[in-house]
Amino acid sequence: MSEPRRVQVLVVGGGVGGYVAALRAAQLGLDAVLVEGDRLGGTCLIRGCIPSKALIHAAGRFAEAGAGAALGIAAAPTLDLRRTTAWKDGIVDRLSNGVAGLLGRASVTVMRGWATFTDAKNCTIETADGPVAVAAEHVILAVGSEAVPLPGLPFGGEVISSTEALGIANLPQHLAVVGAGYIGLELGIAFRKLGAEVTIVEAAERILPRYDAQLTRPVRRWLERHKVTLHLGAKVTGRDGEGRLLVETAQRQSLAIAADRILVTVGRRPRTAGWGIENMALAMAGPFVKVDDQCRTAMKNVWAIGDLVGEPMLAHKASAQGVMVAEIIAGARRRFDPDLVAAVCFTEPEIASAGLSPDEAKAAGEETVVGSFPFSASGRALALEAGDDGGFVRVVARKSDQRVLGLQAVGRDVAELAGEFSQALAMGAVLEDIAGTIHVHPTLGEAIGEAALAALGRGLHI
Ligand code: FAD
Ligand code: NAD
Repeated sequence: MSEPRRVQVLVVGGGVGGYVAALRAAQLGLDAVLVEGDRLGGTCLIRGCIPSKALIHAAGRFAEAGAGAALGIAAAPTLDLRRTTAWKDGIVDRLSNGVAGLLGRASVTVMRGWATFTDAKNCTIETADGPVAVAAEHVILAVGSEAVPLPGLPFGGEVISSTEALGIANLPQHLAVVGAGYIGLELGIAFRKLGAEVTIVEAAERILPRYDAQLTRPVRRWLERHKVTLHLGAKVTGRDGEGRLLVETAQRQSLAIAADRILVTVGRRPRTAGWGIENMALAMAGPFVKVDDQCRTAMKNVWAIGDLVGEPMLAHKASAQGVMVAEIIAGARRRFDPDLVAAVCFTEPEIASAGLSPDEAKAAGEETVVGSFPFSASGRALALEAGDDGGFVRVVARKSDQRVLGLQAVGRDVAELAGEFSQALAMGAVLEDIAGTIHVHPTLGEAIGEAALAALGRGLHI
């Protein structure tokens, strides 16, 4: 191989962390090269956030088309899953091509191929035209994560991960889901809405253990109302000779569940094998690459971002870290504040959360005031048929100075409230800031103002 190509900033991985880091680096006048072995857009655009939300939307449209009787609407929908998939794939293609266009316009050089490191700053990229050696001044590692298989239940055949579930050609009659976390519930609910029988097996005592029980109750109620079978505190022990999923329930009963697909969603792990990490002398934090609050690794000028560096494994966290690292390389003083990363679970109903829950605030030693407002008292929610699912908005504030510590909601379409939640936390809002904001009527956002008023003891509509 000839002399290595010298690069100022080499970004490895073209997912939402990596491509955003490369864009920002180029904006700041740095010479940025992005290497991607698969498709631009990574997990989020190609096989994660976007295709899953498209499928969830299509499933919602399908379920709603057949459930309008109370509104005087009658229809009997049919489903052509191949067309649904083609529509979803069209969105993915459009976004992936859009990323290529953005990178091109920003003068980021994109190298297609897999990078393997021989030391912290040198790698070989296996391109279609042969290997290319690269020596980088700065390396931003953004190689992402992969689905975790269950011991005794490897992926293949009927046992699928979210990637296969999002490309499924025929609707399973019976879908068994192992893990009632983000993916298991988002996709399990979507497949139920499309008409599949769904059984969920979860090791913990409740669904979505990352969220507090008050927030997850409406989702649990939806599952019950829609006859999703739920085994909590249960253990998968393998499959029998007929391919049935073997489960030991919380009551120590043994079950054999016959399902035509088994979707395993028990978490994701950072991608730390197969690209020479062992040659880079990086420190680790458990399975993740260890970074400080500027995403610096143990090696000078080697940075790591996104799913590779730990929880929360969320797209907007990866992008925010990417922007930050590019700015630090360009000379800015930045730090990453994980407390500002909100999260949304696109279940039915949706859950949105930013900052501390009442229990987390208490555990952190805070004395709090909490105000909440139910969507059953919101005109907008009622007009959207979103008033009867048990949804609400909740505000958690410090008692002494009324500084907002957390905002959460559960209810239909509450994902769209997450931006206001994040903004309130980022700007250090106090209860009066939120209560004094004139929210448009009729919108779901009014419930945020009402929750703040409730925390101040001045609730108007409840
Ligand atoms: P990735 O997006 O995984 O990108 C890593 C990229 O690096 C990949 O394209 C890979 O091909 C490339 N790569 C790896 N190794 C090499 C190498 N050696 N050489 C060259 N290229 C390499 N998050 C949300 O915030 N909201 C959601 O609604 C949401 N929904 C999700 C739904 C599903 C089904 C899944 C699986 C995930 C979802 N996520 C969601 C999580 C989100 O997708 C991830 O947090 C995000 O993609 C992480 O971005 P990243 O840049 O760290 O890694
Ligand atoms: P998760 O961590 O959200 O949920 C995994 C679930 O599996 C947990 O409830 C856990 O208790 C359970 N579990 C673990 N081992 C088990 C076992 N042996 N048997 C039964 N249950 C078991 O993981 P996920 O759903 O695979 O999603 C992975 C990551 O992807 C998430 O952590 C999240 O960061 C990201 N994601 C985010 C979104 C979103 O932002 N809306 C959507 C999908 C995925």
